[in-house]
Amino acid sequence: MSGLDPEDWNGLRALGHRMLDDMIDRLVHLREQPVWQHMPDALRAELRAPLPEAGMPAEAVYEDFQRLVAPYSVGNTHPRFMGWVHGGGTGIGMLADLLAGGLNANLGGRDHAPIEVERQVVRWAAEMVGMPSDSSGLLVTGSSMANLIAVLVARRHAAGPEVRTHGVDGARLVGYAAASAHGCIPRAFDIAGLGTGALHTIPCDGNQRMDVDALRQAVARDRDAGELPFLVVATAGTVDTGAIDDLSALADFCAAEKLWFHVDGAFGALAALSPRLRQGLAGIERADSLAFDFHKWAQVPYDAGCIVVRDPALQAQTFAQSLAYLTREDRGTAGNAPWPADLGPDLSRGFRALKVWMTLRTYGSAEIGRMVERCCAMAAHLEARIHAEPELELLAPVTLNIVCFRVRHLNGAEVAESVDWDRFNSELVKDLQESGIAVPSTTMIGGHRAIRAAIVNHRTETGDIDMMVDALLRLAAARGACAP
Ligand SMILES: *Cc1c(COP(=O)(O)O)cnc(C)c1O
Repeated sequence: MSGLDPEDWNGLRALGHRMLDDMIDRLVHLREQPVWQHMPDALRAELRAPLPEAGMPAEAVYEDFQRLVAPYSVGNTHPRFMGWVHGGGTGIGMLADLLAGGLNANLGGRDHAPIEVERQVVRWAAEMVGMPSDSSGLLVTGSSMANLIAVLVARRHAAGPEVRTHGVDGARLVGYAAASAHGCIPRAFDIAGLGTGALHTIPCDGNQRMDVDALRQAVARDRDAGELPFLVVATAGTVDTGAIDDLSALADFCAAEKLWFHVDGAFGALAALSPRLRQGLAGIERADSLAFDFHKWAQVPYDAGCIVVRDPALQAQTFAQSLAYLTREDRGTAGNAPWPADLGPDLSRGFRALKVWMTLRTYGSAEIGRMVERCCAMAAHLEARIHAEPELELLAPVTLNIVCFRVRHLNGAEVAESVDWDRFNSELVKDLQESGIAVPSTTMIGGHRAIRAAIVNHRTETGDIDMMVDALLRLAAARGACAP
């Protein structure tokens, strides 16, 4: 044995082949498995062990993985997982992660091909939405981090270089996002030192889109009060309903008011790959910065978020440092500046770009666009089922792939007003999740607890939608029979 490498490479090779076969079998037989099941307490307890002092054969560790971990994942690879907004992953993405692990590349900086792959992926991201090809960017954990980076770049733009030494220090910077914006936007304001109070919430219109007139009034009012409006965060595909803010109108407004125009397109930005859907995103190409995820609608395995910034110099001015132990050279391994570490908070960074690069090249953007359209067609099928079932009520317009609805009647007859429908629907969703048949999640729409089905998984078919609805109606009837 030399270092930590095995004496017998053939043993590791055989184990690796077994893992690969098992994982591909898992994908082949997904439909036969429950979407999700609760991990028994006894197994949780088994995971709680002291730091292992002595090692054990890797085969035995793998058996524990198969027994303790694999059966109790959240289920987002399964075609009937419709909860939250989770991507389904692909076989090729899984294999790319194996290759990335083998290379063990660190993409903080230096002169190597993996960084060129990441730069290429960022150029493709810009091209996808029509932003300039010399935009800069990074692959990050997810849109939460990408949105935070955008807020920091916008803050640096508004407050100048001093903000990096002095902090925000009394500057009365205020930003704007719709009530429908994702919770990571106020969190970014918090982490950026602006405080969540510096994010002013703009109401939505009846279609869950930011009310642009209300934004105009808020900015005018804040300017009169001596505040410094600096940033508007638009959402392309809101987390609750999939609504897309009027990006063209917001781009016009931001240009006229000299405000940073950021778009959170976490999943919705992928609609740009569909010729039919991309017009709904018109204006996204004018963004100063864009955050979105490859791990949601592009089906790249977790984690893979992306930030794209129109002005490359500004992104570097927001993060770059000069440190002796990270000196950039004109040649040798320390060349190839600027380094990704200059563009965000991380120094050591994994090779996320490989799984994105291999996914986009394997399927091509057109096929990804068709898959996005198929997900929307599944949402339309669900919407039609909801209209056809007297028990069900649609709670929000369906823009893309998210459907919010609830059970509001039982057996076609309205039940006494005393039924707590919020509680009924919450409990019903838990029943359905525990049945293993399908996993939607819940949210609040217009003050009502909604069942939320986000069709993000490329494997979901109409039969899966029907199974979900049929199971829901069956469970609702059963629960209704003993309803309070
Ligand atoms: C999922 C989501 C986020 C957060 O993205 P993560 O990748 O989970 O960090 C932000 N905004 C919207 C609209 C989202 O759907």
